[in-house]
Amino acid sequence: MTLQSYLQLTLAILKPDVVKSPFVLKEIRKLIIDNDFKIVRTRRTIIGDDEAQEFYKEHKNKFYFNRLLTFICSGPSDIYILTSRNAITKWRNLLGPTKVYQAQYSAPNSIRGKFGLSDTKNAVHGSDSVESANREIAILFKDFNIKKWYENDEVYFQSKKLIFDPHLFIHLIDKDLDMPKNYGVLN
Ligand code: ADP
Ligand code: MG
Repeated sequence: MTLQSYLQLTLAILKPDVVKSPFVLKEIRKLIIDNDFKIVRTRRTIIGDDEAQEFYKEHKNKFYFNRLLTFICSGPSDIYILTSRNAITKWRNLLGPTKVYQAQYSAPNSIRGKFGLSDTKNAVHGSDSVESANREIAILFKDFNIKKWYENDEVYFQSKKLIFDPHLFIHLIDKDLDMPKNYGVLN
């Protein structure tokens, strides 16, 4: 018998251009819910310069690096840890291509195709691999322990024993609901 882990975690950022625009923010939050992501953690904050440098360090030598840092630190972002099956690819597919004009052309219904303003102000971020997700979660949710989440909490997310708080935009575990016997154990 093996305990099969189905859920993936990914890091999503709704960048300052989105948080500034209540209509766009609402639309993207609706997409997250409609696509059956569960929100494990939520944080609204102005990303600090140190955090941004670390987060985007692989872009340090790019011509757009300063512009990117100035933008990402320019106002509040919504930062989420999302989970679902195949969360990383699913969220990246919803985002669309990095470059907004390309997104408008090749994926007009993607988030960036619909709401991106420029190649820098492209509305949203999504981790591109499990390694990136782990690294990014560690930077932006310093007290979140991924291993512990899989040990203690994943089972509640699998079985949807959750309460959604639309105001805080988070799914909270409802430990009062009984877990089914042998839940998650494959025979
Ligand atoms: P993605 O966000 O799709 O993973 P990258 O990791 O390549 O894209 O880039 C990180 C961020 O840097 C992008 O989301 C965007 O905000 C910015 N960026 C990337 N390429 C450019 C560019 N050519 N011009 C301006 N900004 C860019
Ligand atoms: Mg990237």
